[in-house]
Amino acid sequence: MPLSPEEIYAKVVEQVGPEGRLPMPPVTEWDIFPWEPVDGTWLPKVVRPPLEAEPPRWGEGDKPCQCERTDEPPHAIWRNDRWVVTSRDEPTGMPLILLLHSREHMDLADLDDDMAAEYGRIQVWLHRIMANLPHIGRVHVNRWGDGGSHLHVWFIARYARFPHILGSFAVEWDEMLPPPPGDVWRADLKYVADRMANHDGVSLI
Ligand SMILES: [Zn+2]
Repeated sequence: MPLSPEEIYAKVVEQVGPEGRLPMPPVTEWDIFPWEPVDGTWLPKVVRPPLEAEPPRWGEGDKPCQCERTDEPPHAIWRNDRWVVTSRDEPTGMPLILLLHSREHMDLADLDDDMAAEYGRIQVWLHRIMANLPHIGRVHVNRWGDGGSHLHVWFIARYARFPHILGSFAVEWDEMLPPPPGDVWRADLKYVADRMANHDGVSLI
């Protein structure tokens, strides 16, 4: 089961002390970070003119897709004939982050009605299984798709009861909070994959 909020807090205090700050992640240096320091305060970046066209995503133009890498263990933890769930390579600050992909190369708008119906069912199964793990406050479900063209939906479990680790900004704490031990994290992956297999498909872990 995931570490408790108290266990995570103890790890933070052990690392930086009760009033200490965790190391700054590189997010403020990203092009898409919307604010920048100006004259001692933070201001929105200057809006630039639109590009001629959307830049190609992975899987478009001459940028290859990683379909094969997605489909196999150790990344894949569960799959059925049409869908696959993958994990990150290593534990990160959030207790559990999983991705749901179509096995065939397609994007959300390409799903036919049968695939769309199955997508809805799997989304609910995966959300419910992750949300029922102890110490999970919420599971955020996100589909952005600005980086890769192959359908991938994020399932991001956050810890319960941290008063300011909430909403879309909870995602940024993934790079700051201390990760759980690898054996705890792998046991949670197996827990989710085994319960998904009770509905359909096979656990790969
Ligand atoms: Zn693909």
